Amino acid sequence: MLNVGFIGWRGMVGSVLMARMLSENDFQGISPLFFTTSQVGQKPPDIGVELPPLKDAYDIETLAGMDVIMTCQGGDYTKSVYEKLRSTGWNGYWVDAASTLRMSDDSVIVLDPVNRSVIESALEQGTRNFIGGNCTVSLMLMAIGGLFKAGLIEWLTSMTYQAASGAGAKNMRELASQMAAIGKASEDLLSDPASAVQEIDRRVIGAMRDSTFPVDHFGVPLAGSVIPWIDSELESGQSKEEWKGSAETNKMLNNDPPIPIDGICVRIGAMRCHCQALTIKLTKRVPLDEIESIIAESNEWVRVVANTKEETMRQLTPAAVTGKLDVPVGRIRNLNIGPAYLTLYTVGDQLLWGAAEPVRRMLNILKGRLS
Ligand code: NAP
Repeated sequence: MLNVGFIGWRGMVGSVLMARMLSENDFQGISPLFFTTSQVGQKPPDIGVELPPLKDAYDIETLAGMDVIMTCQGGDYTKSVYEKLRSTGWNGYWVDAASTLRMSDDSVIVLDPVNRSVIESALEQGTRNFIGGNCTVSLMLMAIGGLFKAGLIEWLTSMTYQAASGAGAKNMRELASQMAAIGKASEDLLSDPASAVQEIDRRVIGAMRDSTFPVDHFGVPLAGSVIPWIDSELESGQSKEEWKGSAETNKMLNNDPPIPIDGICVRIGAMRCHCQALTIKLTKRVPLDEIESIIAESNEWVRVVANTKEETMRQLTPAAVTGKLDVPVGRIRNLNIGPAYLTLYTVGDQLLWGAAEPVRRMLNILKGRLS
């Protein structure tokens, strides 16, 4: 049986991964061992079978006994362990949700409903590192992978609306705390239907600008506001998140020459669903019904939503999509600027297709090949 070591299973991405693996019965046919960086010797998760206590995630010898290492622990862990482990001669498969190894020449970014052929040919050639992609990139490709495959994209620009979860568990807590602080500041006025909205507005902005407003993790208010910068600054003027849109998409699809992709990434006050509005310059004019069919047929999770107010409001929001594997795509229409300019809007749960699901499915691909 395949020996699989799990690191980072307790975190936000890891716990979504565990839940998905249990619901899909993925532990069947593998021999799992659970590691930790902080709770060595404590109880492993309950997956319905007897397991030894948690192992030390820095113990290279024990790690080297694994056929596959599946880590959702984060980039610092990958940096501190990966090279040491490989330098022992370990030749197993490293499957990782962190970005550290994504752009390395000897790794493939995995999203099998979109790039299964790239994954398969890398496996044939002996590639051992399979890394989950950036959440926004993976969700964009789940939505419009079909248009890329059909060679219909000359360039694209994305305007994103990204959830707090992309920044981590502490940021999700902070967003909810900010919402609570705003609610508390205006509570008495909200319970009085006769109160003036100007006073509510004054209290809300007063709370957001107060020195006690919780901003330790985001740095500034997100609830009641938006933050048009995600990740670090690059000399190009892009944020790192914006740079990933082009770099990772083109690597995932093995595009040569690369397709130009750029945009602005914005953090909004949603908990765990990213949304993005795309403008696409098509390589040729294509009727909208054909575009919709190509999108709808590209994988079993993408859903075309009719471009009506009612369906958009019902289906194309974080409130509707959170916790689901569905990737709805709507607002599909040609822009007034010209018939080869297409716009659309898509939503996806970034802890599922944006993080846990691609690495979960990669483990199953390995299980299928190696068991
Ligand atoms: P996280 O929630 O901070 O968890 C990482 C680790 O922190 C856990 O595995 C756990 O390791 C430790 N930890 C300490 N206190 C904990 C507590 N109270 N509850 C749970 N775990 C605790 O990290 P994450 O957001 O899942 O991200 C993991 C990696 O995935 C990162 O590299 C991230 O960039 C990448 N990723 C994240 C997303 C996203 O949407 N967040 C998307 C794609 C990729 P020990 O058991 O060893 O202590």
